[in-house]
Amino acid sequence: MSKSIKDCVKLNNGTEMPILGYGVFLIKDNDETTDCVKNAIKHGYRSIDTAMIYGNEAGVGKAIKESGVKREDLFITTKLWNSDHGHDKALKAFKSSMELLMLDYLDLYLLHWPVPKNNKYIETWKAIETLYSDGKVRAIGVSNFNISHLENIITQCNIVPAVNQVELHPWFSQAELLAYMKQKGIFAEAWGPLGQGALLDNATLMEIAKKYNKTVAQVIIRWDIQKNIITIPKSTKEDRIASNANVFDFELSEQDMETVNGLNKDHRIGPDPDEFDLDA
Ligand code: NDP
Repeated sequence: MSKSIKDCVKLNNGTEMPILGYGVFLIKDNDETTDCVKNAIKHGYRSIDTAMIYGNEAGVGKAIKESGVKREDLFITTKLWNSDHGHDKALKAFKSSMELLMLDYLDLYLLHWPVPKNNKYIETWKAIETLYSDGKVRAIGVSNFNISHLENIITQCNIVPAVNQVELHPWFSQAELLAYMKQKGIFAEAWGPLGQGALLDNATLMEIAKKYNKTVAQVIIRWDIQKNIITIPKSTKEDRIASNANVFDFELSEQDMETVNGLNKDHRIGPDPDEFDLDA
């Protein structure tokens, strides 16, 4: 059972990844991103999740340099956007992200969306495999992949993704996808773990939070951790960044885990991966 913010899961290639990280979606300004990421690192986070499309990789890179924490003690994820599908574009996109992040290796590179209608995710994944084989990235994964997309990767490519980062929260707990991924050795990582804020006034969660003298956000983050799901809540506020990480001094009972599981209503907040094709 996870006891510290430094606790890691072991991915399918042996790479260790912190179970709790910090996401920077919608922090547009690079200076604000630098401040937020430095605060996150100050409060103990060691894993940072960005993406080319967030436009803040440079801000993350600056925070890494200024954090005072050794590069090898941090775990940095970025993602390849829809407009960069295809072999050559993928390699170019990686190089550009690395320049903005000012890094000479990456911990996790994710293929952001499958964009099935363009039918280029297999070619793109094969390019990402070469980045891994060349030692430029410690682990490679996907994001927003459904079972059919994962099945195509597994049957047509060489490397099984280490991670699939998907929308996952108490209203959308993705049981079928998670069961499939477990069978294939693919770790689940939750984006929008707090329902992008929408779950924070849920009455059932508020009742559970009161019982443990915790916030609803802390209850949800703890629920992820107890389900062995990597989670990356985002906040721009230092007090929330700190409190979202203060989840290692309590444990939800089996009954409360079941109550949270029971909130599932297969309700997506974000787009459907089978349809989403922004910028592709
Ligand atoms: P989250 O579920 O993390 O929710 C973020 C929202 O909750 C913000 O509005 C934040 O507001 C608020 N919040 C956070 N903590 C608290 C708190 N303790 N009390 C009250 N409000 C709080 O949504 P995200 O979409 O940001 O998801 C997390 C991360 O997942 C992203 O940052 C990104 O890294 C990744 N992601 C990946 C996607 C993908 O396609 N792969 C898609 C979307 C996200 P405030 O900042 O004002 O505190």
